Amino acid sequence: ATGLDVEAIREDFPILDRQIGGDVTAPGPDETDDTPLYYLDNAATSHTPRQVVEAMTEYYYEYNSNVHRGIHSLSQEASVAYEEAHDRVAAFVGADGREEIVFTKNTTEAFNLVAYTWGLTELEPGENVVTTQMEHHASLVTWQQLCEKQGAEVRYVEIDEDGHLDMDDLRSKVDDDTAMVSTVHVSNTLGTVNPVAEITEIAHEHDALSFVDGAQAVPTRPVDVGAIDADFYAFSGHKMLGPTGIGVLYGKERLLEALPPFLVGGAMIRRVEFEGATWEDLPWKFEAGTPPIAEAVGLTAAIDYLEEVGMAAIERHESELARYAYDRLAEFDDIEIYGPREERGGLVGFNLDSVHAHDLSSILDDHGVAVRAGDHCTQPLHDVLGVPASTRASFYLYNTREEIDELIDAVDTARQLFA
Ligand code: PMP
Repeated sequence: ATGLDVEAIREDFPILDRQIGGDVTAPGPDETDDTPLYYLDNAATSHTPRQVVEAMTEYYYEYNSNVHRGIHSLSQEASVAYEEAHDRVAAFVGADGREEIVFTKNTTEAFNLVAYTWGLTELEPGENVVTTQMEHHASLVTWQQLCEKQGAEVRYVEIDEDGHLDMDDLRSKVDDDTAMVSTVHVSNTLGTVNPVAEITEIAHEHDALSFVDGAQAVPTRPVDVGAIDADFYAFSGHKMLGPTGIGVLYGKERLLEALPPFLVGGAMIRRVEFEGATWEDLPWKFEAGTPPIAEAVGLTAAIDYLEEVGMAAIERHESELARYAYDRLAEFDDIEIYGPREERGGLVGFNLDSVHAHDLSSILDDHGVAVRAGDHCTQPLHDVLGVPASTRASFYLYNTREEIDELIDAVDTARQLFA
């Protein structure tokens, strides 16, 4: 009904055929596995289609080599693939070119890169960083630690009852001493979709920079960093059908140009003497050492896959599944759901009255339903919600309504068990 040929898509993901339930102390399937898998933990990490694995296999079998410095054929082929991966990512998110795309290990490293380069050189005592109560620790802890080091203040914009940002609170917290405004695009706990273009405009009115955490947004909806006008934007390959070990920091070229390097060493160097060194051009200045080459090839294949399916169609599919899950969970009066009903990302966080999320998710696992239970790296947000943890079901392009029905049945079983 959502326009995606989910059955055909599922064929590309061998792991979705896995049975579980047996021995989990050794990786992979074993003969005691007897329960079909309903994988609803996509916000933590997504699965990898054959096309991505095959692209990486082809790399290792056909042109595995170090990049940038080789004259030999394999190195040139690997270099072209690695460099073009930057172009592919740039086009996918609407950046101006490869100079604006830095490959990192993940979203977390992208935040740390900006804190260690911009933060340690530009953020001054008395200035402030405005972020929100719903940030992931990758963002929240980075700004907290940076501000502590620099004698700056970190301010947290509050959320309302529905899990939306209180925009009046944001406007009152951003002032002429604000140096950075950092907001998650789609909350990994509440599913809230934040008005990041509007927030960026407010930041710019005060000459502050804007950093948007797109870890949950880029995989699930069309994103145009130019339209948002963010100065920095970060996301991870492993949440968008790509491999682990690669993430992306987008930064406006003139800003990246002005920043000092983060890590130093090989590949980011132009000329080294005993007395000092000069740096490579963008984006290589920020990519010290041997980079994630196979992963960049995999990420390119993941983007090919996502574009073939269509990001607008994926967004529609996600939003229909999230609405369906929300409404089915809302039928239980002993379940509390977090975040807004309307316009949410493809995930639903909830709690069953007086049952710890870990106990609930362990029952769900017995039914083959893989969800995440815990604080989802948003402990301060859980303090605001007044609970230690929550259970989160998160969907992707290969999920179906039937899998959500399995979730609901398993939740119902747990309700009766704990009643
Ligand atoms: N921000 C958000 C909103 C996330 O959901 C995540 C992943 N849970 C991260 C940042 C961190 O991503 P990574 O672990 O890939 O660095």
